[in-house]
This record gives sequence, C-alpha cells and structure tokens, in this order.
Amino acid sequence: MTGRVTFVGAGPGAPDLLTLRAVEALRRADVVVWARSLVDPAILEHAQEGAELVPSDERTHEEIVEIYARARRDSLEVARVHSGDPTVYGALHEQLAACRALGLAIEIVPGVSSVSAAAVALGQELTIPDVSQTLIYTRRPTRTSMPANEQLVELARHGTTLVLFLSVRRPRELQADLMEGGYTAETPCAVVYRASWPDELVVRCELKDLATSIKSNRITTQALVLVGPALGDASCAGRSHVYDPGYGHRYRRLGRPDRYRDKAPKP
Ligand code: SAH
Repeated sequence: MTGRVTFVGAGPGAPDLLTLRAVEALRRADVVVWARSLVDPAILEHAQEGAELVPSDERTHEEIVEIYARARRDSLEVARVHSGDPTVYGALHEQLAACRALGLAIEIVPGVSSVSAAAVALGQELTIPDVSQTLIYTRRPTRTSMPANEQLVELARHGTTLVLFLSVRRPRELQADLMEGGYTAETPCAVVYRASWPDELVVRCELKDLATSIKSNRITTQALVLVGPALGDASCAGRSHVYDPGYGHRYRRLGRPDRYRDKAPKP
C-alpha cells in the first residue's frame, strides 16, 4: 500500500447528483477533504464513521499537501472533494503534481458540472443546431490573471454560447467586455446562482441589462453567466440532424428503416 488520493467531483450541489463512483470513494476514505462553499455537507453522510473530515477552504495548498504526505506515510485513503467536475477550475493541476511527487496512487472521479445543472435550471439545450454548436467556458480575470490570448473581448467575437465561471464580481466590466466583443445589446443572457441548490436562482435578461440584473439580485458569487443566441427564445427553429427523417446514419439508414431495428439487443 502506498496511500491514495481520489479527487472526487461532488456535482453542482444537490447531494443526489453524486455519481455512484463518488459515493464509493467517500465510503472507503480515511480522510475526506472537502470544499465547504460549494459542496453540500449532506454528501459527508457517505463517509465512514470515524473518517477525518477536513474543510479545505481554511487551508493553503501546502497544508493540504501535508495531509497527502501523511496519507503516503500511513497508507491512508483520502477523498478530496471538489464542486462540480474537478477537472474544470478545480485547482487540480498542482494537487496532481504534488501527489505524483509523493508517489501516491491517484484517481479522479468526474462530477456533474455546474454548467449542466445551469442548463437544467434553464430547461434548455446549450447547443442548438444552426444557432450555436460551440460552447466556450471561460472567466474574467479578477484577482487572478488570464493568458494573453484568452481575453474575454476576443472570445466574445465568436458570438457563440459563452459560459462564464467566477465572473459576477464586476458585472459592469463583464457586460462592457461582452459588448465590445460584438454581442449586441439584445443578446439573451442568463445568470444561474447555486444551480441545483434549494435556493437556486435563475435570472434571464438581455445583455444591455446584465450588470443591473446581477446587481439588483445581489449575486456576487456562486453563479454562472451564460450568453449567446442559444439562450434565447425556446421556440427558435433549430433541430438535431440525428433524428431528422431526411438524415440517415449508421443506425437508421434512409430508405431501410427496419434494418437495424431488427438487431436491437433482446432484453
Ligand atoms: N469545478 C466546478 C467549478 C469550480 S469554480 C464545476 O465543474 O462546476 C467555482 C465556480 O463555479 C463558481 O464561482 C461558479 O461560477 C461556478 N459554480 C459552481 N457550482 C455552481 C452552482 N451550483 N451554480 C452556479 N455556479 C456554480
């Protein structure tokens, strides 16, 4: 035994959006390190009795790595629980490097992203044929920097569906960047606060009202902003090719509708 750290995606908030694999990782953990701000404590019910529970938000990276070093020494199982999916804005990169340097076994359990939960809250698909087929996940720089080639104004020029994490602190600058990038004042936007939590809040508006909508609803954290034509009128025309009667593919050839149906696996 060498000790193992499992990075667990806890999903967007609702405890029943944990995966079975995440539950299994929590069950076997000697130590659970979890982010209090965006992970519901209810998920800790899956931890074994006597497991050490450590809130990560009061510790630095170095202090968390000390826990990993102890796990290596004492052959412990650690579950490091992140909100949503741990591979997106999860501070995973430096933790993986530290675990590898310590010679620990590593596992990563994917989680339901907050983007999926936000789309569910909005009751819609984010990629609508002939409207938007591309999603950009990004953020505005606040106290952290952004790579020079990823400035929001430049990304906005694509006019696609844009999902902004960690970006509601300065709503006026956010709105200004999006407009400078070319989204029109009428572009549909949505702000989803704490998707899948009991206090979830959904605000829809046009881009010209984005900053005031964020401010008047007092949203300063734990929210996603979604922008782009796909956020618009649910009755717009786009539809998937895959289910179009005029579009054949491997499982449903045009003119031979029954060929594959006969081969459906028997229950
Ligand atoms: N790994 C996470 C993101 C962590 S960064 C994921 O995959 O979702 C934290 C940011 O994610 C928050 O500031 C917010 O922008 C977004 N976020 C996380 N959970 C959210 C939720 N339930 N509702 C809305 N936004 C959320």
